[in-house]
Amino acid sequence: MKKNDIKYSDMHMHGSYSDGKGHLREFIESAIEKDFSTIGISDHSPIPLENCWSMKLSDLGSYVDEMRKLKKEYHSDIEVLIGVELDYIEGIDVKDYIDFDSKGFDYFISSVHYVYSEILGGHYEVDGPAESFGFLLENGFEGNIKSLVHGYYSTVRKMVEEYKPMVIGHIDLIKKNNGNGEYFNEDSDFYIDEVNKTLEVVKKHGALLEINTGAISRGYTKIPYPSEYILQKCLEKGIGITLNSDAHEPSNVGYRFKEMIELAKRTGFEEIYFYSKGYWRPFSL
Ligand SMILES: [Zn+2]
Ligand SMILES: [Zn+2]
Repeated sequence: MKKNDIKYSDMHMHGSYSDGKGHLREFIESAIEKDFSTIGISDHSPIPLENCWSMKLSDLGSYVDEMRKLKKEYHSDIEVLIGVELDYIEGIDVKDYIDFDSKGFDYFISSVHYVYSEILGGHYEVDGPAESFGFLLENGFEGNIKSLVHGYYSTVRKMVEEYKPMVIGHIDLIKKNNGNGEYFNEDSDFYIDEVNKTLEVVKKHGALLEINTGAISRGYTKIPYPSEYILQKCLEKGIGITLNSDAHEPSNVGYRFKEMIELAKRTGFEEIYFYSKGYWRPFSL
């Protein structure tokens, strides 16, 4: 393939089977309008914990069937991939719960949304509203932010080792409620140490990190996941990056990709990866 004989891909998004708005078809059409080479839809995997955002286990079969039909229907316009954002939940085998191997997914992204609190004896979301984050910190981790951050990143490390995902979702999700540095300083030694340990595991497994613009498009943060410092570390360690929108509505497919390309360039990256015709391909910046 010639230099930049490839277009953008977007492999992370959610439709109305989970907490997104819009039919799967509308996401595909949005990607066609934007002249993308590939679109991967990665709705939230069902999980055996109650919440208001993941897909119901009883809907998983129809999701995959519908995706299969759409993939065929649009195959001459765009490469459509059937994906899932697979939750990693410590102590719970989500792959087994959804009978992952029988579903025929083309790919998956893996993400951590839950940490386990020994004190509360249960799993809690780290990206919930500010009040629930505050509750988790105070009651689940005795107000010790270092323990909570450690709980999060050690879960991410286990996820990479056990699930070996090709793309890691929003690696620094733990900062979602830390917009003004309310809870921790991303420059502090303990935080940098957790990030570095995690990136070493990512590197060892050859996974890609996504620059994820989903929290910007939904108004939660002003910056993408991951923070610039983490991108710099990826560059130093030779960890590849891709761009994903984590769109929850069709118009947000490819959200702010041009700006993210500028960000990657500014950080020093000379290439980022987009998926095309069965492979992750380097796109020269
Ligand atoms: Zn996610
Ligand atoms: Zn997502």
